[in-house]
Amino acid sequence: MSAQPIDGRACAEALAAGLAADVRRLGEAGHRPTLAVVSAGEAHGATVYARRLARLADELGIGHVARALPVTVTLPEVLAVLAELNADTAVSGILVLRPLPAHLDEATVFRALDPAKDVEAVHPENAGLLALGVPRFVPSTPGAVFHLLDTWLDAVGEDRAAFYHRSRIVVVGRSNTVGKPAVALGYAREASVQSIDVWAHRHGGLGRHTRWADVLVVAAGRPGLIRAEHVSPGAVVVDVGINAVVGPGGRTRTVGDVDAASVAARARALTPVPGGVGPVTDAWLLRSTVQAAAQQVGSPPERTLLEAS
Ligand code: NAD
Repeated sequence: MSAQPIDGRACAEALAAGLAADVRRLGEAGHRPTLAVVSAGEAHGATVYARRLARLADELGIGHVARALPVTVTLPEVLAVLAELNADTAVSGILVLRPLPAHLDEATVFRALDPAKDVEAVHPENAGLLALGVPRFVPSTPGAVFHLLDTWLDAVGEDRAAFYHRSRIVVVGRSNTVGKPAVALGYAREASVQSIDVWAHRHGGLGRHTRWADVLVVAAGRPGLIRAEHVSPGAVVVDVGINAVVGPGGRTRTVGDVDAASVAARARALTPVPGGVGPVTDAWLLRSTVQAAAQQVGSPPERTLLEAS
């Protein structure tokens, strides 16, 4: 068997094309969705991500403002910037880039966001709504994981509900931003869901859990963690990991958490890295920005904004 590649770039392009129509509709009513990106320090990955988002926003006619704060910024200064963006009616959504410097308490920063603009659903109110299955916003990376899966199911002619109802989903990694919300989205689809983290691995249980999966979502940040022996034949594997590794000749390349070469021989379908979850994540975040703008101006979003939860 050679796993079918699940093409994230095509999926992201389709998502963006749907968004363009929503942006136009809001524009005709005099509203321009705008994303504010707040960063502290210059972590390389975060800077690259912010640049990519700005480029895509430009393509879609979505506004963007960057508040790049120095790594020495104090907590009161960050909170003051967020208060200003919360009050700015031209700003629809706010993204706080991670990682924050260690002296800034992430939970305190997230709590300072206006929940109506918290497009990554990191404020406790939005995280709670997501956990209850009634999300205001679906965070971008787990949203992208399930949007990719839903789109792939449509493409292969599988009924989404029937597939999820019979499927066992295992999520490797339990961060507040990726693993935990991915579990919530699996519950929302009424699948059987299991969450595992580094402790299962340290105690030798990784494969025992991952081989249970019909759908394996891997978000651990460990290059090549999942190999063929961790995957049951015919599983669908979604690789969220983005890891920079130095290859022969000192060249840096980006790889996922899945050893694609060995897993492809066993899985039914597999998302590539790069070109899988990443591009859909970008489009999804801008989708949430448009959704926030529509909610703020009381313009009921059309189906493109509501299709996935
Ligand atoms: P994180 O470091 O916050 O969390 C990692 C989680 O994985 C933790 O729960 C940890 O316990 C678990 N883990 C670590 N090693 C493990 C192991 N050996 N076995 C089992 N579990 C293990 O990371 P994160 O922010 O959730 O990101 C995870 C990965 O996804 C990273 O590679 C990150 O770069 C990538 N990522 C990709 C996108 C995208 O758009 N594709 C977006 C966000 C994050």
